[in-house]
Amino acid sequence: MTQINHPLPSKFAQIFPYCFEEILGRKDWDSLIQNSGINTGLIQGNNIPALQNELIKRYGLKTAQGIWQRVGRVAFHYIRRHFNPFVQLTRGENRYKPFSIRLPLGLQALNEFLSQNLDCQLSVITQEKGWQIDIDHCPECSRDEVDQQGSFFLRGLLQEYLLWIDARKDFRIEETQCVGGHCRFDVRVNPTN
Ligand SMILES: [Zn+2]
Repeated sequence: MTQINHPLPSKFAQIFPYCFEEILGRKDWDSLIQNSGINTGLIQGNNIPALQNELIKRYGLKTAQGIWQRVGRVAFHYIRRHFNPFVQLTRGENRYKPFSIRLPLGLQALNEFLSQNLDCQLSVITQEKGWQIDIDHCPECSRDEVDQQGSFFLRGLLQEYLLWIDARKDFRIEETQCVGGHCRFDVRVNPTN
């Protein structure tokens, strides 16, 4: 994966092309958006289905899902570095707050990013053995014409977020619902850790 330096991208429309470029390379990304009929400068959540279809056509379903998951993972690193609510979490005493406080604070910041940029909402319920994360208006699974089981961009985003919150914990993340724009992820921490 090539590290590309860009000037402070903090919005989805800016972050998204960088992530794809990092994973696919400039040439493939350029031809991908061209074939999807998308204006590069204006990528929004509602362009996701067209990109999904084009990726599946080109690479097959499984590889396309893997690419989305990696895009989510890479996107998280742009978000945490440049989106202000995340930057605040890494400053001052916030850095030393315990995991149980940092985890919901970070999810709040992630919700802010998702609602501002993709018009979807994230909510979290703490359970006895982990967390249930619900996402409404998910751009990946809200359209019927997309024949894709699972929201892999969000999964990658959450995976990388959890790793960032505590790299020493072994998180298990499973998407237990994904239909009509509503996704539910169950997060568990492996008890051996
Ligand atoms: Zn989903």
